[in-house]
Amino acid sequence: MFPNRYDVIVVGAGHAGSEAAAAAANLGSKTLLITMNLQNIAQMSCNPAMGGIAKGQIVREIDALGGYSGIVSDNTAIQFKMLNKSKGPAMWSPRVQSDRMRFSETWRDMLENTPNLDFYQEMVAGLIVENNMVVGVKTSLGIEIRSKTVVLTNGTFLNGIIHIGDKNFGGGRAGERASTGITEELLNLGFESGRMKTGTPPRVDGRSLDFSKMIEQPGDEHPEKFSYLKSTKRLTNQRLCYMSYTSNTVHELLKEGFEKSPMFNGAIQSTGPRYCPSIEEKINRFADKDRHQLFVEPEGWNTVEYYINGFSTSLSEDIQYKALKEVAGFENVKFFRPGYAIEYDYFQPTQLKHSLETKLVSGLFFAGQINGTTGYEEAAAQGQMAGINAHLKGKEKDPFTLQRDEAYIGVLIDDLITKGTEEPYRMFTSRAEYRTLLRQDNADFRLTSKSFDLGLASKERMETMEKKQKNSKDFIQFFRSTSVSPSILNPILEFKESSPVKQTDKLFKPFSRPNITMEDMRKIKEVDDFIVENDLDNEAIEQTEIQVKYSGYIDKERNNADKLNRLEGIRIPESFDYSKLKSLSYEALEKLRAVKPVTVSQASRISGVSPNDISVLLVYMAVSYTHLTLPTIYSV
Ligand code: FAD
Repeated sequence: MFPNRYDVIVVGAGHAGSEAAAAAANLGSKTLLITMNLQNIAQMSCNPAMGGIAKGQIVREIDALGGYSGIVSDNTAIQFKMLNKSKGPAMWSPRVQSDRMRFSETWRDMLENTPNLDFYQEMVAGLIVENNMVVGVKTSLGIEIRSKTVVLTNGTFLNGIIHIGDKNFGGGRAGERASTGITEELLNLGFESGRMKTGTPPRVDGRSLDFSKMIEQPGDEHPEKFSYLKSTKRLTNQRLCYMSYTSNTVHELLKEGFEKSPMFNGAIQSTGPRYCPSIEEKINRFADKDRHQLFVEPEGWNTVEYYINGFSTSLSEDIQYKALKEVAGFENVKFFRPGYAIEYDYFQPTQLKHSLETKLVSGLFFAGQINGTTGYEEAAAQGQMAGINAHLKGKEKDPFTLQRDEAYIGVLIDDLITKGTEEPYRMFTSRAEYRTLLRQDNADFRLTSKSFDLGLASKERMETMEKKQKNSKDFIQFFRSTSVSPSILNPILEFKESSPVKQTDKLFKPFSRPNITMEDMRKIKEVDDFIVENDLDNEAIEQTEIQVKYSGYIDKERNNADKLNRLEGIRIPESFDYSKLKSLSYEALEKLRAVKPVTVSQASRISGVSPNDISVLLVYMAVSYTHLTLPTIYSV
C-alpha cells in the first residue's frame, strides 16, 4: 500500500502541513501528507482572511520562497486591503478576505498537482523511534509507515476540548474529532507539553441581517495582491464587509452567561491569545468601554454565511444569541453555528533547533500551532521551513535558516526557539527590530534567490524578481542622474505646499521630500517617458519610490544589522559547558543550558541573559573585542 520508505511524512494538512508538504515534495522528496480529513485541507478554522499587520509580510515571504499560501490567497480573495497605508512602507500590510470553501479547494487542487506527493486520510497515533531517530509513524488502525523524517503539524487537535458555556466535549475543531496518542508518546520520549486555548465567533445567516444599519467597509480602490508571480491576478470585483458595534445592553446580556462560562468558572485554565480576546474577556478587561467594534465579513462569493469578527466567545449558545440580537442590524439574526473555545496541547518551542527539528529526536520536526503559535500565516511559514529542512535532512545537507534581518520568518522562528512562549504567539511588526528592511514590497529581493539556490523557487519566479530588481535600480539611477530646472519643478512643489527650489538639481532631491510622491514626479515629462519607454510595472515603480524616500532609514538599519550579525558569526559549540563561567548569573546559566544557543547573538536574545552575561561569555571564548564593532550595550 505504501512504498518501502518515504523521505518525508507530514502529519496534518492545516496551513503548516500543507506548506510543509508542498516544500518537501517540490524539492524532490518522496512525501506523504497524512491527515484526519482530506476534505479539510488548509481549512481556515477561524477568520476567513489571510494577511494583516506583520502577517501580510509573512505571506509575501512564503510566496517569495516558492510556497503556495500567497497564490491560493490571491486566487480565492473576495476583498483586498493594504493596511497601514498612511504610515511608512515598513508598516504596509496586505490583507485579503477569503472565500473559505474555495481556499481549501484551491489548496487541495494545488497539492494534487504537486509531484512526489501522496495523500492518506488517517489519524497518526504514534511515532516509530529507533535510537533517538524517528523512522516513521503508526496510525490509529495500526498501520506503520516508514520515512526518513516526520513533520508534526497537529494544530489545535492534540487532546483538543471544545467549550460552549458549561458544555464541553473532545474535538480538534467544530465537527472534527481530537487527535489522541501523540502527546502521550512525545511525553514518553522526554518532551514537555503545555495547554493553550483559543476561540472563534458565531457564524450567521446574512439573509437575516439588516446591512442598512451597519457601516460599509469596502476594499481598496486599487487592490494589490500577495504573489510576486505574474500569473495571479488583482481583484476587479470585491465583496463588501460591514461594521457594527456592541452596546452596554449587549454587555449586560453577555454578563448573564459569565457564571456558566468556562473562562470564568475555572473550566478553562490555559492561556489564550492576548491580542485576540473573546468578547467576554474584552468586557471584563475594558470595563470602562461601552462598545466594541464588530466586523461582519462574508465567508465567500456565493454563500450567505457571515463571520462576526470581534465576537469570539465560549459563552453558552443561548447567551450568544440573545446578546447578538441587540446589535444594530442583528435584530432578526439566525445562527449557522455558535462560537466556541478550544483547549489543546502544545510543545514549548525551545525544544527545537532553528531548523524546527527537535533537539531530542533526530529527523522529527514540529511546525505550526503545535509550537504555541496562533494564526494561519505563522503556521504556514513554519510549515514551509520545516518542509524544506526535513527534505535537506533526508539528503544529509545543512539546514536552511533565515536571520532576523532577512525575514519575519527568521524573527518568528528565532523568537520561538530562543524565548519560548507561554501564550499563543502571533507576529507583530514590533517584534522585528529591522522592520524597515523586512517590508512586504521587497520579500522577493530578500528571499527568492536563496530559495532558487535551494531548488524551490522556480526559474519564472527568479526571472520576475531579477527584472523588478533591474528596473527599479535603473529607475533610481535615473532619478540620481537626471536634472530638473526650477521652472519645471516649482509649480509641482508649490501645488504640494513644499518650498520652491532656486537652482537646477537632480530629481532625487525633491523626490526625497516626504510629501512629494511618484504621482507628483510623473508630472515631469522625462519621468513619465522613462516609465513608458521601459515598460515599468507598478511593482518596480513602487519599489523605486520606497527606496528613494526611505534610503536613509534603510541604510541605517542595514548598518545596525550588519554590526549585530558579527555576533551571529560567533558560534557556540553544542557541547559548551556553561558551568565553567563562574560569573554568569544563575538565571542565565539555567536559560543557556536549556536553550543551547548556537551563536552569541542568539544567546543575547534569551530573556534573562543580560549584556553582562554576554560579556562573560565573549571573554571566555577569547573573542578579541578589538576586531568586533560590538553594539554599545556589549562594549566594556
Ligand atoms: P490546523 O490548521 O489546526 O491543522 C491541523 C491539521 O492536522 C488538521 O488538518 C488536522 O486534521 C490534522 N491532524 C491533527 N492531528 C492529526 C493526527 N494525529 N493525524 C493526522 N492528522 C492530524 N488563529 C488566529 O490567528 N486568531 C484566532 O482568533 C484564531 N482562533 C481560532 C479559533 C479556533 C476555534 C480554532 C480551532 C483555531 C483558531 N485560530 C486562530 C488558529 C488557527 O486556526 C491556527 O493558528 C492555524 O490553523 C494553525 O495551523 P496548523 O497548520 O498549525 O494547524
